[in-house]
Amino acid sequence: GPVLGLESSCDETAAAVLAPDGRILAEAVLSQEKEHAVFGGVVPEIAARAHLAALPGLAERVMARAGVGFGDLGGVAATSGPGLIGGLIVGACFGKGVAIAQGLPFVAVNHLEAHALTARLPGLLEGGAPAFPYLLLLVSGGHCQCVAVEGLGRYRRLGSTLDDAVGEAFDKAAKLLGLPWPGGPHLERLAAQGDAQAVPLPRPLLGRPGCDFSFSGLKTAVSRAVAQGAASHADVAASFQAAVAAVLADRARHALEMVPEATGIVVAGGVAANQAVRAALTGVAGMTGVPMLAPPLRYCTDNAVMVAWAGIERLRAGLTDRLDHAPRPRWPLAELTPATV
Ligand code: ATP
Ligand code: MG
Ligand code: FE
Repeated sequence: GPVLGLESSCDETAAAVLAPDGRILAEAVLSQEKEHAVFGGVVPEIAARAHLAALPGLAERVMARAGVGFGDLGGVAATSGPGLIGGLIVGACFGKGVAIAQGLPFVAVNHLEAHALTARLPGLLEGGAPAFPYLLLLVSGGHCQCVAVEGLGRYRRLGSTLDDAVGEAFDKAAKLLGLPWPGGPHLERLAAQGDAQAVPLPRPLLGRPGCDFSFSGLKTAVSRAVAQGAASHADVAASFQAAVAAVLADRARHALEMVPEATGIVVAGGVAANQAVRAALTGVAGMTGVPMLAPPLRYCTDNAVMVAWAGIERLRAGLTDRLDHAPRPRWPLAELTPATV
C-alpha cells in the first residue's frame, strides 16, 4: 500500500502520500516562516507547538486528497532526527500513532538520508536517478556538509562546516545589511544591484585539502565592511555572495577528487535556490564532466515527499524501526543501518 511521510524537524510541517512505486499521490508543506520572522530565527518551542497544532489536520487533508484511507496504507515514515527535538517528537509520535492504530510498519527516517535519496525518486531528475556513488551537497539553514552516497544507508561524510551552516551565514550577513529574516533570498535580490568585485572578502578554506567549510570569518569581514561604510550595501551583498559561491565550488571540486567514481553532485537545501551558487556549481560540472543535479526547488527544501520516499526505500530493503525508537536531535548519517543488498 501507499506510504505516508511526515516532516517536522525544523520549521516546515509537511505530509505526503506516495504510491509504493514512488508516484506522488498528494503532498503539502506548511512553512512557519511568519511565526519565527519576528524573532529573527527559528524558536524551538514555537516550532514544536506549531507542528502540534498543524500536523494532524494536514496529514488528514493530504490523505483525503490522495484518496487513501489510513487503513489502506502500507507503512508510515516520520522524520526522527536530526533536528529540533520538540518537532521531531510531534512527527514521530503522530506517525507511531497511525502505525499502531492500523498495524503498519514504522520507519524512523533520518532527515539527511531523506535529502540524500530524493534524487532517486522516480521521474524527479530528467536523466533518471543517478547511480551510486553520487555526492550530496547539502546547503541549508541548519546543515552544510558534503556526503558520498554509496548505497541505501551507506554514507560517508567528506566534510562539513567548522562553524556556521551556509544558509545561516546568508541569514547573518543579511541581518548585518538590515534585511529581514530569513535573509538569503533578500540578500540575493540586493546583490543583483551590486558589484561582486567591489569589496575584497576572504574565501575561507579555498584551496585547502578536504571538503570542510567555514563561514564565520566571512561574516566578520562583512560586519567590518558594513561598519566602515565605504561600500554600498548592494556591493557588500554581491561580494559576499560571490565569496560563498566560490568557496562552495572549490569544496565541491575537492569532494569530486575524493570520490573520482562519483556519477553526479546532487544539491539540496534552501541555498540551492541561489543563482550565483548554482552557476558556480554548474561551472564545476563543466570543468569536471560530472553533472550537477538539482531537483526542483520544492524538493531541495524540507518536504515530506522525500521522507515518504526514504521510507519506501527502507521498507523495500526490509528496514523498519521499533515503536520505541527515540527521536534524535543529533543523528549523523554514518550511524545508519545499511541495507544488506
Ligand atoms: P534544515 O537545515 O533542517 O533543512 P532550514 O529550514 O534551515 O532546515 P531550508 O529551509 O532548506 O533550511 O533553507 C533555508 C535557508 O536557505 C535559509 O538560511 C535561507 O536564507 C536560505 N536561502 C533560501 N533562499 C536563498 C537564496 N536565494 N540565496 C541564499 N540563501 C537562500
Ligand atoms: Mg526551513
Ligand atoms: Fe532539510
